[in-house]
Amino acid sequence: MSSAAENRYDVVIVGAGIVGLATARQLLQARPELRLAILEKEAEIAAHQSGRNSGVLHSGIYYPPGSLKARTAIAGRKAMLAYCSEQGIETRICGKVIIATRDSELGRLRDLEERASANGVRAERLGPERLAEIEPRAAGVAALAVPEAGIVDYGAVCRALCREVERAGALLYLESAVRGIRGDRQGVRVETAKGEVAGRLLVNCAGLHSDRVAALDAPVADGTHIVPFRGEYWALRPARRHLVRGLIYPVPDPSFPFLGVHLTTTIGGGVLAGPNAVLALAREGYRWRDASPRHIAALAADRGLWRLARRYWRTGAGEVWRSLSKNAFVRELRRLLPELGADDLERAPAGVRAQALRPDGALVDDFAIVETERAIHVVNAPSPAATASLEIGSAIAAKAMDRLGRG
Ligand SMILES: Cc1cc2nc3c(=O)[nH]c(=O)nc-3n(C[C@H](O)[C@H](O)[C@H](O)COP(=O)(O)OP(=O)(O)OC[C@H]3O[C@@H](n4cnc5c(N)ncnc54)[C@H](O)[C@@H]3O)c2cc1C
Repeated sequence: MSSAAENRYDVVIVGAGIVGLATARQLLQARPELRLAILEKEAEIAAHQSGRNSGVLHSGIYYPPGSLKARTAIAGRKAMLAYCSEQGIETRICGKVIIATRDSELGRLRDLEERASANGVRAERLGPERLAEIEPRAAGVAALAVPEAGIVDYGAVCRALCREVERAGALLYLESAVRGIRGDRQGVRVETAKGEVAGRLLVNCAGLHSDRVAALDAPVADGTHIVPFRGEYWALRPARRHLVRGLIYPVPDPSFPFLGVHLTTTIGGGVLAGPNAVLALAREGYRWRDASPRHIAALAADRGLWRLARRYWRTGAGEVWRSLSKNAFVRELRRLLPELGADDLERAPAGVRAQALRPDGALVDDFAIVETERAIHVVNAPSPAATASLEIGSAIAAKAMDRLGRG
């Protein structure tokens, strides 16, 4: 990288995951003359959450009506389908069933049905016979069918977005971890592992490190920070993939909407089982042995996390147990798919979710975007942010254009 004066841009985006790339795309669609730089710490794009997820195109059924999640997931799913069709990226609207496996879950299933209607998402209540027509190997006392849910390979989406924005003039700097941010008269100077870049505005889409990048710009006043939760997967052996046709989910626990192992077919023809959710011992801790002493010390001193753990230790212990014991994991899945056996599953790569936590121990539920004098920080973009990415990108682009002057 040469000097900052030469490396001067209108917008400097940190993070080449799906949110950063979608933001670049939406900015350049609206204002093709903008000079854009994307700074990525890894040697490739989509190396973390965007390349390590379930690949589900969510319908938007789960989220509180009017929330950013609901609005951007519903509109984002449509935008993503249109984008994939334009780019020749395969998608499959295979539908999802959300299954109540015991009577005690029927109340929550009913709430979900009401939420679907409030969000304008199509959902059909199923009895066991109708469920058997859609997913013959699944079992439950009742279910909701969500026909609009589907699948896509978000890694392929990221590659298409990257090609498009580079063609439109954006510069992608790989292996360029952001280490410092300071203001100057024209905007912002960003120190990276490879040199300095200057811009009028910074957009932080750093996922698992978004709080650290935000803290380089300005202290986070309310102490909200990222806690990484690893999601481990198993894959159905090829001979058993016929057990699942589309997407099979349990009824979610409203306190932990991201919990609950499920079964998802993938664009590549596989079937994933998972993910669970265990506290990762490093921000990018994909295995138990990926443990960072600095991170563990921070977790031990994290009051918000202690508060969360005190309230939900049973839930957390269950997730750890399912991580350590394949049989426990299979038992959980068997509630949805009774024929499944431990021998049907082989290990698949894990992902790590970036989840924002408040100092009072509350998980930040909605997507969160915070603005400072020189930056826009995406401080919470967990699932369904891949589905919603083009809409989140549009929302950030609108904020950025307001800041830059609509020109
Ligand atoms: C296990 C799992 C399953 C999921 N399933 C689904 C699903 O089925 N459907 C769905 O819609 N969503 C799903 N999600 C959520 C979705 O994957 C994420 O919300 C989305 O990918 C977030 O994208 P991002 O760009 O914000 O983050 P990321 O993809 O993590 O990108 C952030 C980028 O910033 C870079 N970076 C970090 N720090 C720095 C720095 N200092 N300098 C430069 N670069 C930096 C990182 O290397 C990374 O490339 C899932 C997530 C996980 C983990």
